[in-house]
Amino acid sequence: MQDKELYQHILGLTSPWTVRDVKLDTENQEIRVQVDHPRGTKFCCSECQQELSCYDHGEERHWRHLDSCQFKTILVARVPRVDCPKHGVRSVSVPWAEPHSRFTLLFERFAIEVLQMTQTVKGAMTILRLKWDATWHIIERAVARGKARKQPSPLPRIGIDEKAFAKGHSYVSMIYDLDNSIVEAISDGRDAEAAVACFSQLSEEQIQSVEAIAMDMSSAYVKAAKQCIPLAEEKIVHDPFHVMKLANEALDKVRKQEHRRLLEEGDKTLSHTKYLWLTGMENHTESQTARFEAVCSLKLETGRAWSYKELLRDLWKQPDSRTARSFFQKWYRSVIHTKLEPMKKLARTLKQRLANIVTFCTHGITNGVAEGINSKIMSIKRRAGGYRNRENFKKAIFFYCGGLDLYPR
Ligand SMILES: [Zn+2]
Repeated sequence: MQDKELYQHILGLTSPWTVRDVKLDTENQEIRVQVDHPRGTKFCCSECQQELSCYDHGEERHWRHLDSCQFKTILVARVPRVDCPKHGVRSVSVPWAEPHSRFTLLFERFAIEVLQMTQTVKGAMTILRLKWDATWHIIERAVARGKARKQPSPLPRIGIDEKAFAKGHSYVSMIYDLDNSIVEAISDGRDAEAAVACFSQLSEEQIQSVEAIAMDMSSAYVKAAKQCIPLAEEKIVHDPFHVMKLANEALDKVRKQEHRRLLEEGDKTLSHTKYLWLTGMENHTESQTARFEAVCSLKLETGRAWSYKELLRDLWKQPDSRTARSFFQKWYRSVIHTKLEPMKKLARTLKQRLANIVTFCTHGITNGVAEGINSKIMSIKRRAGGYRNRENFKKAIFFYCGGLDLYPR
């Protein structure tokens, strides 16, 4: 088989396109495949598909194709232009690449696969032997393609959450589709305005389809949800994870205060116990269990605060919001009569937001469901330096977590 014929097959070229020439450039480790069409071939206007004779040809263009063994393979052609009576002089579309792409469809598909597998631009660059800009360009095009194709589907269960970009202080807000574990919308900042900007990226049908929204207890998100989602008050679910985080913070304040008092008396009982209290008992190691039992038997304030915190965890095991409400009221009464100020403050905060805490027992959603997304975003963030700016960070999130159809056809 001649090399021209071979490449005709490898590239899957069909009439009118044929391989005119194959050149091996050993110095640059490249194979250049010149593609051409017979004189007199008619082409369609890319806009209206009207068949027209060839008007002229554009400059010679190069498309990177899948490698032939260790050789980069470059498809070379001059793209014909037609003079459409309706649309003027236009380049025709070629079957091997999307308009304006520097890659063939097959290479672009492969590059997207490699990017998804390596989850890093740098890693993919090495495998694909591409520069950063070219690799990044593939991501940008893939996201634009995916977004253009995306049909808004109903979003009964969503979550809204903030993520720090780079090292703190710079945040984005994002909306998750909790049923499909994908990121649906992203906006800059984490205030009410940012959240409204996020909600406004959803279609009217999607907004109407929302049945439950998981979020932390920040008033900004509550305010935005009430502004954007009808009957939000019944739909907002404060994420148990965030509530328990507050509970752990309150417990830790009790420990710190008590530790300081004990130290003044020369008592080091509470030294190095922070994580004994904050780690769930079920996750204690054997030696931690022994120490924990010892320090618990001392009837310290920290121990009492700890048991209230542990008891609170059962709130989310209640079968419905009505029982959850009465469970909380009992818990509240016992905490509020103690002298554990940080725990009392917690109890008051929770009481204020109780309506949207007990909704968990109705809707059963948490942003933790999006755990897969979170770990992906964490690893995107770790490499955020490589994304250069926030816009790129957002694009990377859509590329890796947007559930988009990224591939060229
Ligand atoms: Zn036309």
